Amino acid sequence: MLSALNGRLSNRLARHFRAAPHRLPAHAPMVSFTFDDAPDSAAGEGASLLEAHGGRGTFYLAGSLIDQPGDHWHGLSNDAIIRLHRGGHEIGCHTFSHLRAIDLDEVAMTREIERNRSHFRGIDSSIRLENFAYPYGLASVWRKPQLARNFRSARGILPGVNSEIIDLQFLRASPLVNCEIDTDGVDHYFDEAVASGGWLIFYGHDVVDAPSPYGCTPALLRHALKAAEKRNMPIVTVAEALRRIGA
Ligand SMILES: [Zn+2]
Repeated sequence: MLSALNGRLSNRLARHFRAAPHRLPAHAPMVSFTFDDAPDSAAGEGASLLEAHGGRGTFYLAGSLIDQPGDHWHGLSNDAIIRLHRGGHEIGCHTFSHLRAIDLDEVAMTREIERNRSHFRGIDSSIRLENFAYPYGLASVWRKPQLARNFRSARGILPGVNSEIIDLQFLRASPLVNCEIDTDGVDHYFDEAVASGGWLIFYGHDVVDAPSPYGCTPALLRHALKAAEKRNMPIVTVAEALRRIGA
């Protein structure tokens, strides 16, 4: 109970403390599609749809979930990872064991990062994990500075557009999850990104006709990609977005 309380508090504090503030250049709306864990359908249908719209995605992967069956999907294979990487998609870090940052001390987090890095280097030696996403979206005020020393950015699941002065170590991301958002909701975020000139990030998992409570249908992803196209917003990886904002 106490630990759950500390965890929630640490997550809340992480929003406000130890920020890595970065001011966005004037008006350059763009969108990133990110997939966590990641299901084989994200690497298949998800990546194909992005490519068909001239975009690339960021896949935050945990080595322990690769090619493993889960409750809702099968984890993507090594072949899929190589295909993504060579196709210009980004592989990001999601810890090796898919553990909440609030449950890891500094030594344990270091081990998780190193193990994940060496796991993906073993699949393709040119894979570098430059950006991080918190498992379960739960940040930790204690781990935040440590992650900042290891990664260019860290992404949570706090919805909203990243605009004006953003925190690179607590990037906002909105759900591309059918249980949580519909096409109007998606359009609303795009309109907000255009109005603010901000950086819109979506997160999701599987991309199938009958998605898990954490994933989306190909139709919803297609809608979001068309929404970007209509507004002339580039569809870029997190690494590419950081390059464009000079971070
Ligand atoms: Zn995850």
